[in-house]
Amino acid sequence: MKYIFVTGGVVSSLGKGLTAASLGALLEQRGLRVRLQKFDPYLNVDPGTMSPFQHGEVYVLDDGSETDLDLGHYERFTSGQLNRKNSLSSGQIYECVIRKERRGDYLGATVQVIPHVTNEIKDRIYAGAFKDGDTSGSPDVDVVITEIGGTIGDIEGLPFLEAMRQFALENGRKNVLFLHVTLLPYLKAAQEIKTKPSQQSVAKLREIGIQPDILVCRSEHPISPEVKQKLSLFCNVPVEAVIEEMDVEHSIYEVPLLLGREGVDQLVVDHFGMDLPREPLEEWEQVVERLIHPHHRVKIGVVGKYIELQDSYKSVYESITHGGIANDTGIDIVRLDSEDLEQSGPGALEGLDGILVPGGFGDRGTEGKILAARYARENLIPYFGLCLGMQIAVIEFSRDVAGLDDANSTEFSADTPHPVIDLMPEQQGLEDKGATMRLGACPCRLEAGTRSFEAYGQSDIEERHRHRYEFNNDYLDTLKEKGLVIAGTNPERGLVEIVEYPKAVHPWFVGVQFHPEFKSKPRKAHPLFREFIKAAMEHSEATPASTEAQV
Ligand code: GLN
Repeated sequence: MKYIFVTGGVVSSLGKGLTAASLGALLEQRGLRVRLQKFDPYLNVDPGTMSPFQHGEVYVLDDGSETDLDLGHYERFTSGQLNRKNSLSSGQIYECVIRKERRGDYLGATVQVIPHVTNEIKDRIYAGAFKDGDTSGSPDVDVVITEIGGTIGDIEGLPFLEAMRQFALENGRKNVLFLHVTLLPYLKAAQEIKTKPSQQSVAKLREIGIQPDILVCRSEHPISPEVKQKLSLFCNVPVEAVIEEMDVEHSIYEVPLLLGREGVDQLVVDHFGMDLPREPLEEWEQVVERLIHPHHRVKIGVVGKYIELQDSYKSVYESITHGGIANDTGIDIVRLDSEDLEQSGPGALEGLDGILVPGGFGDRGTEGKILAARYARENLIPYFGLCLGMQIAVIEFSRDVAGLDDANSTEFSADTPHPVIDLMPEQQGLEDKGATMRLGACPCRLEAGTRSFEAYGQSDIEERHRHRYEFNNDYLDTLKEKGLVIAGTNPERGLVEIVEYPKAVHPWFVGVQFHPEFKSKPRKAHPLFREFIKAAMEHSEATPASTEAQV
């Protein structure tokens, strides 16, 4: 069993997660079974309660765990399916240690960071490789890549680093590889790349007993052999293991190709003493080729609340890109703040080939989203509603087509006369809101003949959920009579999971109660994103002028 630890130095937001995910992709290409996991030093138990403004999107796994958005990169770049064990925070560790202490598991010992907290961390590293963390069994994978969140030098990160050091001692240095991602800033005035911050960051690692084996250097400029030599000398890393990772020009999906060219996967297999042939990265090359030289272009509007922050809808943007790759089309994403739409009216929606309303919580900006859904319905523009975006479509249809005045979700208006979106009876009155969410993979049965059925090409699917409110089945018959198509339902609970407009009245209008964006990959676009972008292309071909203006 082999283990890789990825740490970051100098600054945050270095793209450590992408580097780790890309290394995972390269090692899979070598035929290795890889699992990625993320350990975060913050004290929240999970990111479920953190604001998307601060922390970016919450990425949901099949088992319903709410995790860091880096797990999204891991699942998109590799074939691995992750679970709650692959996401760990200091909050979880301390919760666990304190629970054990209260139960008396430590038999009266003084409970300390070393060994109690570090043991807990080490157990979780093993749990990434072995079923139930039982190291006497055979591992599920060949390599576990563990990314440590935060930056070297943070107080919170120390227990993780100490655990890594102990782990390498226990498992042998040849079975453990330390990869440090660092930043080489460029000083304009001196016209020089500076290595000092990286030297100091590595010095901090060595202070605690960790010698990096590979140094991945993020840089805006190419790194000269002299700079590599200097880093090698000061950081005690062989010069060939000082890797240049320049900013990619077009897309994050270039990173596996870039790291492959730099030979990172070769360094890893050499370190582990493995003799594995190098396979060409054809699929990744094709992904990048399609991104750089697409044959078409479409303009997709995303109408949301956290629109100024790229990371809050990370998986949504990625999935739109995947839909573009599948259709060989480039995509201009137009981000629209739903509150601005409320003020200025639908003018900003003109010229779009597709409108997407992503998930969200709270009532700010909902009327702007409703306006966008109405515009898409009336102007026959492809519409894709994700979770809240589906609820918005139902509200809009109820008000304007079914004549249910002031229809709403009880999330936004507790005393609406027509609660078409509502809590289920068993959720009402519960104090602890966290406990009322429908989270993780749920089955859905599709109705033959619908757009969704055509997209998936099968009738039984499973998709990931993260929401509290549901389509209110008291209105099912009324809305169906008025023409709403119920394209998918949960076979166990009868919950409406997908609504559509009939093909005869609209080219492509689909709202899903789940989050398909958590299951889309660059090499395999989610079927609904693929079909949404296809419909947008058809729209743009029918109205060629609309794609001329660049955003
Ligand atoms: N706020 C809505 C609900 O709780 C939708 C949530 C979402 O879009 N993820 O049901």
